[in-house]
Amino acid sequence: MREILRVQKLGKNLGSYFGETIDIRAVLRDVAAAAQQHGWTSEIFHESGEFKWRALHRKPIRTSNFSLRIYISTGIHGDEPAGPLAALRLLQENNWPPDAEIFFLPCLNPIGFTLNKRENAGGIDLNRDYRNPKSAEVRAHIAWLERQPNFDLHLCLHEDWESHGFYLYEPNPDNKPSSAEKIIAAVEKVCPIDLNETIEGRPAKNGIIRPNILPLERPDWPEAFYLIMQKSRQGYTLEAPSDFPIQPRVNALVAAVNAALEKL
Ligand SMILES: [Zn+2]
Repeated sequence: MREILRVQKLGKNLGSYFGETIDIRAVLRDVAAAAQQHGWTSEIFHESGEFKWRALHRKPIRTSNFSLRIYISTGIHGDEPAGPLAALRLLQENNWPPDAEIFFLPCLNPIGFTLNKRENAGGIDLNRDYRNPKSAEVRAHIAWLERQPNFDLHLCLHEDWESHGFYLYEPNPDNKPSSAEKIIAAVEKVCPIDLNETIEGRPAKNGIIRPNILPLERPDWPEAFYLIMQKSRQGYTLEAPSDFPIQPRVNALVAAVNAALEKL
């Protein structure tokens, strides 16, 4: 049996996340250094106290008819540390499709990480604040998004403290060709997949939830709903299982991003 298949749930998360935490200041310093080293431009679109919210941008190295604009974000929930760690790893590995233009937001809720809390300091779940935003963070993020072109693909990196393995959401309102199975095939080499037929109350198959989303019926949009309605008709919300050790969770998110971008 391969080592990874023996990765077991830790059983630590009773009622919320009780796993490893990160020093978000150190992670963001390393993110900024890796981005600078590899030639990304960095725009600060919001500041609060000691923290700066960065949007990183990488032009295609080679332009072609197949150039695509990719949006990647993470760190919107401060109790989901594998997201910023995966962002750091992806930036350090610097293994991007040469003709992709990438917009990368490595941490949307840094203050949440200092508290090990899902919400921001004011108790707002930022990932429910994209329809009528109340938080300064989401207002600034939307103002930045409004200045960007549309994206061909968006990837939102998350963790779920209750899940039994990795899974993803694929809202695909225009029925575009799917990469979901390819993503799961890449992730299952490094992290267990949640094979339950119901995840978070939704039907699931082999770690894939294909929700029939109705944004106009929901008052509290997550980031992905805003993206689908305003910026990007195709994307994946990637959920690593945070009741497992941190390393397979980071590996899962990195493998999922690489698989989603492979041979675009
Ligand atoms: Zn989340």
